[in-house]
Amino acid sequence: MRGGLRGRLIVVSGPSGAGKSTLIREALHSVPELAYSVSATTRAARPGEVDGEHYVFLSRDEFERWIGEGKFLEWAEYSGNLYGTPEGKVEEMLDAGRSVILEIELQGARQVRQKRPDAAMVFVRAPSLEETRRRLSGRATETAEAMETRLATAVGEVAARDEFDFEVVNGEWDRARQDMIETMENIVAGGKDAE
Ligand code: 5GP
Repeated sequence: MRGGLRGRLIVVSGPSGAGKSTLIREALHSVPELAYSVSATTRAARPGEVDGEHYVFLSRDEFERWIGEGKFLEWAEYSGNLYGTPEGKVEEMLDAGRSVILEIELQGARQVRQKRPDAAMVFVRAPSLEETRRRLSGRATETAEAMETRLATAVGEVAARDEFDFEVVNGEWDRARQDMIETMENIVAGGKDAE
């Protein structure tokens, strides 16, 4: 699209427990050009999660039907559940000039980078693996086993940071928040592959 009217596609990825969601919420509050892509998942809703707002909750059959119908920009299996980004809604928001954040895990991030080389890739991580473990175990909604699976995945994911254009380290809160907001402002203003 001409004239820079179309928004940027922004991937935010990084190990579970790094604090992606909280930082994204802050960025959405502070940067009006941003919008959030609501993913579909087969995982059960956690207490307080609203269908259509946090995720679109689907059965495995429904999810597989969506895959067959080509509805996903990317999808992946993570910790035994399927997660995917519905493409239609993302396109609609980009066309409306919004920059769209996809909060997705690494396999999905790689798919988006392949398909949309102009996407801005942001990696969020905790300052250390110890801190990641601490944050994951503080999440009362996970069983010990699910926590260990997630932690093992997190170790692998930290190794992928070089594949990203920007990194936000979620250590000291005010600083991390500011970093995230500035990163998003930079991207919205045309940072990396500005058209
Ligand atoms: P959770 O179950 O904690 O909400 O999410 C687990 C992981 O799946 C997180 O790393 C989250 O970013 C990722 N995720 C959420 N939605 C999607 C999606 O649409 N696609 C992919 N590939 N990953 C997703």
